[in-house]
Amino acid sequence: MYDLVIREVTLYDGSGVPPVTADVAIEGDRIAAVHAAAGAAPISSLHSAPHSARTTLDGRGLALAPGFIDVHTHDDFAALIYPDMAFKLAGGVTTCVVGNCGFGAAPHAAAAVMAKTLHPKLTLPEWQGYAGYMRRLEANPPGVNIGVLVGHGTARLAAMRNENRAPSGIDMAAMKATLAEGLEAGALGLSSGLVYDPGRFAATDELVELCGLMRGTGALYATHMRDESTGLLDSVREAIAIGERAGVPVQISHHKASGRGAWGLVRESLKLIEAAQRRGLGVHADQYPYTAGSTILSAVYRDGRLRGAIGDLTGEDVVIASTESHPQWEGRSLAQLGRDLGCSPEQAAEQVLAADSGVTCVLHAMNEDDVRTVMRHPSTMIGSDGIPTLEGKPHPRLYGTFARVLGHYAREEKLFSMTEAVHRMTGFAAAKFGLRDRGVIRAGACADLVLFDPAAIIDRGTFEDPKRTPEGIRAVFVNGAMAVDGGKVTGVRTGKVLRRSRG
Ligand SMILES: [Zn+2]
Repeated sequence: MYDLVIREVTLYDGSGVPPVTADVAIEGDRIAAVHAAAGAAPISSLHSAPHSARTTLDGRGLALAPGFIDVHTHDDFAALIYPDMAFKLAGGVTTCVVGNCGFGAAPHAAAAVMAKTLHPKLTLPEWQGYAGYMRRLEANPPGVNIGVLVGHGTARLAAMRNENRAPSGIDMAAMKATLAEGLEAGALGLSSGLVYDPGRFAATDELVELCGLMRGTGALYATHMRDESTGLLDSVREAIAIGERAGVPVQISHHKASGRGAWGLVRESLKLIEAAQRRGLGVHADQYPYTAGSTILSAVYRDGRLRGAIGDLTGEDVVIASTESHPQWEGRSLAQLGRDLGCSPEQAAEQVLAADSGVTCVLHAMNEDDVRTVMRHPSTMIGSDGIPTLEGKPHPRLYGTFARVLGHYAREEKLFSMTEAVHRMTGFAAAKFGLRDRGVIRAGACADLVLFDPAAIIDRGTFEDPKRTPEGIRAVFVNGAMAVDGGKVTGVRTGKVLRRSRG
């Protein structure tokens, strides 16, 4: 007897093949059987089969897909503070890859610095290394599965503080020890954040040497590149060179052209990716489906200017997302704040940073054509890059990314088929990150599933009112347990740590 059968559902199995009508059975934490056939007539082989089920769900009119894999998150600490992970589950996400943009969970003292930025009230429990972090998660499981990247910036901060210099032999040995420990514990790869302190002080050779440790292990190099503005193409060349010289696959994080001066460059950066793929490099990218980004204000305002590696921005383009000290500033642009305070947007940025160095902001810096060009490209998968500052006004991508790709870009805008959209957020992502038995619906695979109404699924959050969960998601299963029922998060927490399975 099966635990659950979902009958006569439109099955998107995650592999990128067109949907079929199917019955899908779950037993324990696995998919036990899939009875499917192409064609008009619904298959009902299970109805006549000797099997029965404790629970059956009528899937008619609904779509079933593998749980969405959010390959780009900053949920390292959110998974501990908000273990129900409702803000992700309600959007159909069943797996989060954490540790992006160079910010990792170990060594602990350095990780605590970043944790404080995003979660000022947090008292971080202790752990030893990535293995200790993973054990923490397992001791108090979150609602979603977690895959872990080692953060280069965190490793560098621990080894050599925030110093703008090349590492000594001792520094390099310390960073390698952090990476080796993480890989041994099952990390999926190494991430860098080359616009942030201290990652921006690292030269290409430093990253090549560290990535060399991953050759042959199946682990990948994920990078928030040095410049996503007018220097985008050189940045993509650097990312590709690191992968080719070190012999490891590359993931370009949140692929975009940021700032008006850079608009249109993605057509060229995509060609660089294609050329590297033809040379044999496993290089891909992820993207969030919005024309606005979000980051810490300290990476945007530097040396008296609003730019950093984000591109030239005006005071209207930069909106305060979350600040513990002055919540009344949240949702205000630097231009508006400047008018309120009787100063320039740059001076407003200075005042905001003086009050709260960890303040996050939303940046209206991209162009819709570029977003579409990147999304349509076969090298692109989906990652929210959501910043889990649940108390402020976070970028709505934290909640709506996957529903927006499916509802807005696939169904309404017909940028690509629903089949392709599902593939980008499931099977494609699992293959790239080495997540065995995830991202596909077939007998024996893990039962991470999303049941949704393909005619209704849509994101609802706006920049003014971001914390709205998507519509049209009926049920979500994580390792066979129902984590969302009728659109409501149930509170069961059956997420696992997903360790690297290749190598
Ligand atoms: Zn980033």
